[in-house]
Amino acid sequence: MRLSNIKIKELLNENASHKCVGVGPEKVCVRIAAIADLPTRFGDFQIVAFYSNRDDKEHAAIIKGDITHAEDVPVRVHSECLTGDAFGSLRCDCRDQLQESLKAIGKMEKGIVLYLRQEGRGIGLTNKIRAYGLQDHGYDTVDANLALGFRDDEREYSVAAHMLTSLKVRSIQLMTNNPRKIKELTQYGIKITKRIPHIIPPNEHNRFYLETKAHKSGHLIDFQGKEHLEEQSDRPVIQRMDESKTVTIQAQQGG
Ligand SMILES: [Zn+2]
Ligand SMILES: [Zn+2]
Repeated sequence: MRLSNIKIKELLNENASHKCVGVGPEKVCVRIAAIADLPTRFGDFQIVAFYSNRDDKEHAAIIKGDITHAEDVPVRVHSECLTGDAFGSLRCDCRDQLQESLKAIGKMEKGIVLYLRQEGRGIGLTNKIRAYGLQDHGYDTVDANLALGFRDDEREYSVAAHMLTSLKVRSIQLMTNNPRKIKELTQYGIKITKRIPHIIPPNEHNRFYLETKAHKSGHLIDFQGKEHLEEQSDRPVIQRMDESKTVTIQAQQGG
């Protein structure tokens, strides 16, 4: 099952003239601009490119099956991380989080990965690399971002909410370990029927989450004692992670 050619045409036609009051404080409005098949190593998907009125950014939805008018569609919201997603950086775990969501949804009948172009927790690539540079010189992650004049977290989910509305999804099951994400999307009018915990199998790259004291005031520390930025709003839960650690992670995210 995929989005049929007729439905693709319909969506593109409707979106060509789409205007609305916008979502969230920034009055974000996105339009579906293009749709195509996307066979991947994780399964056969289709990809939907969105144009956003606020930031001129091109967001993407990777969809499995015909998700229009569907209920309880499994959805993962991923924020772009060039260094992690594409280059396999170990300063964060973004690539694991992205790949595991594609793998999981690739096996499902229906599902969506929303890929939001909010690099480096919304501060952009250059500023993220500047923050990395400061960390290399001993700043901690929060201080590094603050030194650059940014709030600790600039991410925003109104784009995600509008994308789901554009795709005519009726309700979703959110793949997340972060209850705050549920609150925010709900506030923007998305009906969430269930939370699916996002659990990542252990591998050589995420070993440090498993085998070290994973947290120091919410930061991830690797074997070398280096801190890593958490770029996704979800703290990862990795299979075999001991229970107390998982509980701590969820408590930190609950507030
Ligand atoms: Zn709109
Ligand atoms: Zn990352």
